[in-house]
Amino acid sequence: MRILITGGAGFLGSHLTDRLIQEGCEVVSFDNLITGNINNIAHLISNEKFKFIKYDVTEYLFLDGDIDWILHFASPASPIDYIELPIQTLKVGSLGTHKTLGLATNKKSKFFLASTSEVYGDPRENPQKENYWGNVNPTGPRGVYDEAKRFAEALTMAYHRVHNIDMRIARIFNTFGSRMRPDDGRVVPAFINQALINKPLTVFGTGKQTRSFCYISDMVEGLFRLMQSPVIEPVNLGNPEEMNIIELAEIIIDLTGSKSKLVFKPLPVDDPRVRCPDIGRAEKKLQWKPVVSIKEGLKRTIEYFEKQL
Ligand code: UDP
Repeated sequence: MRILITGGAGFLGSHLTDRLIQEGCEVVSFDNLITGNINNIAHLISNEKFKFIKYDVTEYLFLDGDIDWILHFASPASPIDYIELPIQTLKVGSLGTHKTLGLATNKKSKFFLASTSEVYGDPRENPQKENYWGNVNPTGPRGVYDEAKRFAEALTMAYHRVHNIDMRIARIFNTFGSRMRPDDGRVVPAFINQALINKPLTVFGTGKQTRSFCYISDMVEGLFRLMQSPVIEPVNLGNPEEMNIIELAEIIIDLTGSKSKLVFKPLPVDDPRVRCPDIGRAEKKLQWKPVVSIKEGLKRTIEYFEKQL
């Protein structure tokens, strides 16, 4: 099996690449490294089953030889990244998806879109099922990511209907683990790194907004099972254990034994008030659900960031 992954040097892309290599696949990894990091794949560079090419997938795409799967994971994915890189975020979700789908048509490859819980925006239904259409502000600062991914889903379905592309869409909810950038602004790396140096944990808004956090190994297992399944409809992947941000902060302070206190900062514009996946479809069709508890996942992630410090 020969696989092309875009965003292969990112947090999810690099962990998924590791799994595919372990499964015996040959992996070609594209990344323009604007938010990805070459260190995430450095351990694979001498592996003959792995090839990295620095590539901007919004440009014309070319790759020699047959490709069984194209996995489109390229995109800035943390709120501070996509707010800082709004045009690149829109381009990789729209033009990048168009180019990768074009290549998939040409190569007769299967196509996998890494979509997001952000397609649900600031949801009016909780938990979110895949048949919920969402509540997105198209002109707000988060709209660049939300709309790019909504467009990417629509384009993927159009290629499926018109060109008969065999495709999968994963709606990925908050995920955490090693290889996140300590400064990527997402709440788990932010809180862990603040706690490790006894600095106040920056809680945005009241801290009563909710999220649910999935450990990386569970996410990779879900993504891999979705690739192997015949499921065409979008599938939510995430941990259904919902908690608010203050609860998360307290767990991290406890696990790190930190002296940090909480400091309250303004809530970013359009920050969703609740988010929790309904994973009924994944449970039924992929026989998948997360198995690593939030505390266990956080312990492993804390160890990783301690070593980085
Ligand atoms: N958040 C926070 N402090 C931080 C970073 C994030 O309170 O230093 C909050 C943020 O406002 C949001 C939640 O944590 O409500 C999750 O934010 P993150 O950036 O991890 O991802 P999101 O789920 O918003 O895409």
